Amino acid sequence: MAPVQPIHNMRINDNFELLPESYLFSTVAARLREFREANPGVDVIRMDIGDVTLPIPAAAIEAMHRAVDDMADRSSFHGYGPEQGYAFLREAVAANDYAARGVDIAPDEIFISDGAKSDLGNLGDIYSRDSIVAVADPGYPVYVDSNVIDGRGGVLTDGRWSRFVYLDCNEANGFKPVPPAAHADVIFLCSPSNPTGASFTRAELKAWIDYALANKAVIVYDSAYCAYITDADTPHSIYEIEGARQCAIEVRSFSKTAGFTGLRCGYTVVPATLMGTDAEGREVSLRKLWLRRQTTKFNGASYVIQRGAEALYTDEGKAQTRANVDYYVANARLIRDTMSRAGFTVFGGENSPYVWVKSPGAESSWDLFARCLRDAHISCTPGVGFGDAGEGYIRLTGFNTRENTAEAMRRILEIFNR
Ligand SMILES: *Cc1c(COP(=O)(O)O)cnc(C)c1O
Repeated sequence: MAPVQPIHNMRINDNFELLPESYLFSTVAARLREFREANPGVDVIRMDIGDVTLPIPAAAIEAMHRAVDDMADRSSFHGYGPEQGYAFLREAVAANDYAARGVDIAPDEIFISDGAKSDLGNLGDIYSRDSIVAVADPGYPVYVDSNVIDGRGGVLTDGRWSRFVYLDCNEANGFKPVPPAAHADVIFLCSPSNPTGASFTRAELKAWIDYALANKAVIVYDSAYCAYITDADTPHSIYEIEGARQCAIEVRSFSKTAGFTGLRCGYTVVPATLMGTDAEGREVSLRKLWLRRQTTKFNGASYVIQRGAEALYTDEGKAQTRANVDYYVANARLIRDTMSRAGFTVFGGENSPYVWVKSPGAESSWDLFARCLRDAHISCTPGVGFGDAGEGYIRLTGFNTRENTAEAMRRILEIFNR
C-alpha cells in the first residue's frame, strides 16, 4: 500500500508525544464507577476531592455584582485592562499579603493572572531550554509536564526524566525536599505541599535560598496553600527569608484560599532585584522579561474577577475567607487524628487541607485505595499518582462537608481499628 499522504505538513512539538498519558484521576473515577455499579445503594464518601466545595465569600460576590453593573454603563465600563493587573488589586496584595507580614514587595513586582497553574506553566518562557529543572517527588504534576513540553525533560526511563533533578520526599526528610548535591537552575518548591501537606520551616527555606544563591539558580515557590498555615513560625512567603529577593519567584492563587477555582485568579511575584544571565554573561532583569512575556501573550485577568479578589482584602472578606479555610483545616485535622488513632502513620493535615497516609506493611497505594473503597466505602487518591516516591501512600482531603468527613472517619475507626 502507498504511504498515507499527510494533508498538513506542519511539524508538531514532538515533546507532546514524550508525555505519558496521565491515568490517575481517570482511573480513580473508573474504579469508583465499577464499585458503584457492583454495589448499588452503597454510599461512597469522596475523600479524594481536589477542589474546594464551599461557595465564594459574600464580600467577593457583592463586589463582583457591582463590577458587572460597572460594565453596563458607558461611564464605568472597563475594556482591556493592564496586562499586569489593575493597580487596585496589586496594591491590596502588596499591603495585605506582604507589607502586613513585614515583607517588602512593591505593587509593580506583582503580576495578576488567571491562576497559578497558567503562571507555573508559562514561566518556562523566560528561562533557557537548557536549564536543569529540579522537582519534588511526589509533587504537583504541572511542574514536570510543562517543562517536558518545553523540551527540558530528556528521556523518560522507569518513570523518571533523564534531565531533571529529582528531590525525593520521604519519611526521613518529613516529605520536605532538601537541597541536592547536583546543580539545578530552576527549582520548583511547593509549601504547604500538594500532595503531602508538608511545609517548610524558616531554617529549611534558608537552606534552599543558600543553595539557590550558590548555584545562581531561581526557586519557583508555589504557595497556593499559604492561607492554610496556622503555625506562627511557618513562613507564608519565601520573601520572609533573607536573600529570597535575589533568587525567588513566588506564585499564589485565590483558588484554594477563597474558592476561586472556577473564577480564575492568582498572581506571581517577580522582584525587581531578581536577575538572570544572557548568552554574553550580562545580567538581565527577570521582572522585565516576565512583563514582556505577559504583555505579549496575555491580556489581563477579568475586571470583574479582580474586583472580587480585591474584596477578599476587606475586613469582611478576610473574616469570610478565614472561616472557609478554617472549615477545611478542621476537617483535615479530624482526618489526621482519626487515621492516627486507627493505627496509620500520618503526615500533613496541619497547615494544609491534605493528609498523607502511609499504608501499613507492604501494601501498595492502589491496594490501600481498593481496601478503603471495599471495606469503608471511602475513596482516596493513590500517592503513587504524584510520583514514584508516593508509592505506599494515599492522599485524603479535607474538602468534603464536615458531616461526610465525620461519617467517613467513623467508618475508618469501625473497619481499621484494632
Ligand atoms: C490547585 C493548585 C494550583 C493551581 O491553582 P489555580 O490558581 O487554580 O490554577 C497550583 N499549585 C498547586 C500546588 C495546587 O494544588
